[in-house]
Amino acid sequence: MNVHCPYCRHSFSLTREYLAYAVEQADEKKQKYHAVECINCRKTIKVSIKQMRRFAPAVEQAEEAE
Ligand SMILES: [Zn+2]
Repeated sequence: MNVHCPYCRHSFSLTREYLAYAVEQADEKKQKYHAVECINCRKTIKVSIKQMRRFAPAVEQAEEAE
């Protein structure tokens, strides 16, 4: 998934593994946005979870034993 930084206009991509992890974290915390740091200017960019979910591999809603 491509993320476009609104500050420096740099664009970079997030791996599916990262997206899956971020969506999982957001679900846990009931967040609607995931904060990702721009690899170029290091500012925090908010990415909508809804958008991330579309690119992330489907994650089963089963609870994981930890
Ligand atoms: Zn940037």
